[in-house]
Formats: sequence, C-alpha cells, structure tokens
Amino acid sequence: MEKINALKGFKDLLPGDSERWDWLALTARRTFDAFGFSPIHTPILERTTLFTRSIGETTDIVEKEMYTFEDWDGKQVTLRPEGTASVVRAFLEHRHQMPVLPVKLYYQGPMFRHERPQAGRLRQFHQVGAEIIGDIDPKQDIELLSLLTYFFKRIGLDNLTLEINSLGCPVCRPPYREILQDFFKKKLTTLCEDCNRRFHKNPLRILDCKKESCKTITTDAPASAKHLCTECDEHFKTVQQGLKTLKIPYQYSKHLVRGLDYYTKTAFEMTTQNLGAQNAVAAGGRYDGLVEALGGPATPAIGFAMGMERLMHLIPETKGMPSTLQLFIVPLGESAYQTLFPILYSLRKKKLRSEIGYSDSPLKKQMKQADRLNAEYVLIAGDEEIAAKKAILRNMKTKSQTEIGLSNLINEILAEIEG
Ligand code: ATP
Ligand code: MG
Repeated sequence: MEKINALKGFKDLLPGDSERWDWLALTARRTFDAFGFSPIHTPILERTTLFTRSIGETTDIVEKEMYTFEDWDGKQVTLRPEGTASVVRAFLEHRHQMPVLPVKLYYQGPMFRHERPQAGRLRQFHQVGAEIIGDIDPKQDIELLSLLTYFFKRIGLDNLTLEINSLGCPVCRPPYREILQDFFKKKLTTLCEDCNRRFHKNPLRILDCKKESCKTITTDAPASAKHLCTECDEHFKTVQQGLKTLKIPYQYSKHLVRGLDYYTKTAFEMTTQNLGAQNAVAAGGRYDGLVEALGGPATPAIGFAMGMERLMHLIPETKGMPSTLQLFIVPLGESAYQTLFPILYSLRKKKLRSEIGYSDSPLKKQMKQADRLNAEYVLIAGDEEIAAKKAILRNMKTKSQTEIGLSNLINEILAEIEG
C-alpha cells in the first residue's frame, strides 16, 4: 500500500525539537503572565468575512493565501491566517465577560496560509501573540515593546533588532498616500505587477514588496513618519522617549509597513540577521480602527505576533533539553514484574521519569535498552531477589551497585537518585 505523508508546508514536530518548543511556549506564558496578560483561546475556523474585513482585501493574505472553503451548510469559512481578528471578534462577542479596559490578552496556536513553502515559511505555522485592547495611550505601546524585548532576552536572544515606524492615522495617512503615489507615478513601468496593482489600491504596501527590483526603487520613497499629524507625531515621539527611558535599543525604520491593512500609528518588527530573507521573527503595531471595522465601538488597540518556527531556529539547542530517563527497571521473570510494576507507578507519581523492561527479555537485552534510553539508574531484580525481598540499584555512570530492601524501596530509590 502507498505510504501517506504530511502535506507540503505542514510539519511534524518530533521529540528532540518538541521539548524545546514546549520550553519556548512555557517561557512565553510565564513572561506574558508577569506583564499582566491573560490567555485566550479562539477557534481555528472562522467565517471568511472576519478576515477579509479586518486584514484587507488587497493584502497578500486575503488575495492568495487563505484556506477558504464552503462548509456543508454553504457558509464560507476560513482556517485562521492570523490571530488578532479572532481575538477582537471574541472581545466584541463577550465584552461583558472581559476584565476592565484595557484588556490584555495573549494567545498561542497554529495559523494557516497557502504560501510557497521554503525555509522559515510554512503553510501551517504557529504564532504567540499579545493584544492590549482599549487604550490609546503611548504607554501601552511602550509596555508591549518592553514585553517583547524582555521575552527575547529571557530566551537568550539579545542580538535582535527592534525596528519601529509610525504609519499615521485616518487624518494623516490619506495625504501621505498621495505623496507616495506622486513618488511612484513615474516609476510604474519598473515596478512589479503586484506593485502596479498596489499603486491604486494600497500604495503603502509597495514599501513592503520583497522583490529586489522594487526594493531598489523604494529606497528614496518619502517616509510616513515625516508626514504625521500632530497627534501621531507626539505619539511616536513619546513611544521613542519611553523606550529610551527603559534603555531599550531600537532602530527607526522609515519604510517599515505591515502586510495587514488595519495598522495605524506605531508599527514594529523584531528582525535578525540570521534567518536569511525571512528576517522578521515578530511583528505588530497599533490597530486603532479594527474594533470599529468589526462592528464594535471605537476602541484603540495594539498587539504583536511572533513566529514560533522562526524562533526555534534561533534559540540555542541546549534550551529545553529532553529530560533524561532517571530510572529503568529490569524485571527478570514474571513474579519480579508483578512486584515491580506497582513500584514504577508509585515512582512516576513522585515525578520520577521511569520505564520498565519486558519481563521475558534476558538481562543483557534489557540492559541494552536501558543504555539506549540513556537511563541514569537501573533497578534489577529477578524472581530470586524478589523472594529474598531485595533488588539491585545500579548507577549507570559510576557503575556502582547497591542492594536495597523491598520494604523501603521507593524511599531508598528516591533518596539515591534525587540525592
Ligand atoms: P513575512 O513578511 O515574513 O511574510 P508577515 O508580515 O506575513 O511576515 P505577520 O503576518 O506579521 O508576518 O506574522 C508575524 C510573524 O509570524 C512573522 O514575523 C513570522 O515570524 C511569522 N510568520 C508569518 N508567516 C509565516 C509563515 N508562512 N511561516 C512561518 N512563520 C510565519
Ligand atoms: Mg507574509
């Protein structure tokens, strides 16, 4: 029969890596917790309109990357390509159950985009993200950026660059958009086909084009932060001042825009030199118009998401090492097995990572298995030892052996192994 493999762009996470993954997720959880965020879990499948309306019709995600299909009842549904839209939907749907504003939420989970699979680009990937909903104050921007910076430090990555920019608001963005169109008007023939479309619908996104030829043209394009209204300008200055006060290094990046339409004011990315073309590890910004666009009252918000797979490539291999097997029990014969199996259960309840061999396997074979599993200790007992109410505990590193009595076996094992 033909073997069935996973789909292209969908990956299994196996022992050896999965421990590091869990360590990363746990560290994120602890960090978000310290900064006062609460976890939120939303469904993976949502109505398609949630994403088309929030992310924007002319974005890469909505134009060509969404996993959309018709449900059995004819409804258009989509596997979520990102987390913010769902969090905002849930916030609106359960507003009265939410804590007082600003609501601070974080999430972790799979996202789906039909992209061309390559290094750092999958079709099912995972994000950890945080959102602060309900406060326009630049203090929130500073808080979120300090959380992001601290998280990377905590996982041992302090060589990343925090890049920030301001994208303006509905007051200053339209005039900037025109200035940008003026700049690109004479260059349309040299811009790629996608950028020609973006020129009419969303010229800011030309600045985000990954094609080298377009990147060259955009080098001299006018910067949004130079065309901000007074409110946005003040906001941006306060954010930068706040980062300086906290001694958080950052870089002003004049052409940083986000691939999603809902961003306003502060936009940012955490980038690295170590991932080739896929250099953004985390990205986010303020989205003051999104809650209203999804049918809620005008509510400012800010958030970010980071890609777990890209993080996994960066963190040292030694982080979250698989835990070692502390004890391997070698029962020689059925009666030994019957006595030792309940002891294994007790030891496991005491959190000792432990295993047992097959009672009908010879000693040599079971010892080989213990070796392969890298067991620190081995407990050996045959029917004879059991009859004499004792067992042998062997330290696999020092090769020293001690005889211990069955009556106090559990305590003696724990004392020996845990010191
Ligand atoms: P890029 O510019 O790399 O396409 P993006 O702007 O589409 O990124 P966001 O939607 O802001 O990315 O997602 C935030 C983070 O999620 C990214 O910085 C990245 O780490 C991760 N990410 C996005 N798309 C993928 C993907 N297809 N595979 C793996 N990780 C991804
Ligand atoms: Mg993308």
